[in-house]
Amino acid sequence: MKFATKLIHAGMEPDPSTGAIMVPIYQTSTYVQEAPGKNKGYEYARSQNPTRKALENALAIIENGKYALCFSSGVAASDAVIKLLQPGDEVIAGNDLYGGTYRLFTKVFEKFGIRFHFVNMKDAESIKTSVSNKTKLIWMETPTNPLMNIVDIESISSYAKQKNILTCVDNTFASPYLQNPLNLGADIVLHSATKYLGGHSDAIHGCLAMNNAELREKLYFIQKSCGAVPGPQDCFLILRGLKTLHVRMERHCENGEKIAAFLRNHRKVAKVYWCGFADHPGYDVAKKQMRGFGGMMSFELKNQSVDEAKRVLSSTKLFSLAESLGGVESLINHPATMTHASIPREERIKNGLSDSLIRLSIGIEDADDLTEDLEQAIG
Ligand SMILES: *Cc1c(COP(=O)(O)O)cnc(C)c1O
Repeated sequence: MKFATKLIHAGMEPDPSTGAIMVPIYQTSTYVQEAPGKNKGYEYARSQNPTRKALENALAIIENGKYALCFSSGVAASDAVIKLLQPGDEVIAGNDLYGGTYRLFTKVFEKFGIRFHFVNMKDAESIKTSVSNKTKLIWMETPTNPLMNIVDIESISSYAKQKNILTCVDNTFASPYLQNPLNLGADIVLHSATKYLGGHSDAIHGCLAMNNAELREKLYFIQKSCGAVPGPQDCFLILRGLKTLHVRMERHCENGEKIAAFLRNHRKVAKVYWCGFADHPGYDVAKKQMRGFGGMMSFELKNQSVDEAKRVLSSTKLFSLAESLGGVESLINHPATMTHASIPREERIKNGLSDSLIRLSIGIEDADDLTEDLEQAIG
């Protein structure tokens, strides 16, 4: 099946009891058993739920993996991956990660004796110099948030494989429409399904996909033992969102290209971070590993005062000032005080994230209305 067909049909069977074409929301906590130990494969809803199972089957196929597991949020999915490790183990991750991932690593897991090295992932050498015999995991995010840096998944995964190090790629920004990390050699792919997969800003949800059965068993054990599972209603919403992912992403990409070009030509804009520009430092890698460049971008005004950035952030009418991304509606965000406030300021500045940076999640509205809104806000 081609991608568009998979999104609509993968993992979907008519409901056996009624023929319902959509998977029902199995709103139940437990399942009646015929005799002790004799059941239909469902015992208790933290461990198994048919709505969740349909979504896991679909997600596995869509990410070209054998297995997928769903969690109550993207962060809960990240949490499960780190729980594969032991005290003393080390992780190498990028130095411009999603703020919530950085917070989870440094404020929760460092306490349990896991060490994190945050490096410039664009540079393969900086990974090699941080690797030791304690390194058990390399964590990639690409394109990165909010600076849209590109990490070479294939080359880092092949290096990690030689060293027997597990790799996990946060594929939230690209979505499976643009990038499939498992095909590039990664062991685990992670999504905050809250974003493009759901696509309608109405559910918090996370998932992992993988090919290795042993790895799936370990992560399934963590999923049911730690219990950060999603409810069936949210699984239903993500399943519904998946069916239009390709159509939405096509428009996100089209609009993204138009808005990026508009901003770049704007007399008051100093710099636009969007990986589809041929002079973007990661363009060649992006072109190799992605099928398009998406609708996420950031920009800086020529007037770099924080007050001027805040004025623009408060002046848009169509773009809503909000955290999150990947929904049908366009959002504007101030990373320094919103999504990335959990990263210490000096750490942010060191990695190029200035206090005046503005991030956009381009939705699927008419591009002319979006440029008009930005024009009146920038002034
Ligand atoms: C939002 C996000 C997460 C966290 O997901 P939640 O669903 O909010 O828990 C992780 N990584 C990236 C890149 C994100 O944008």
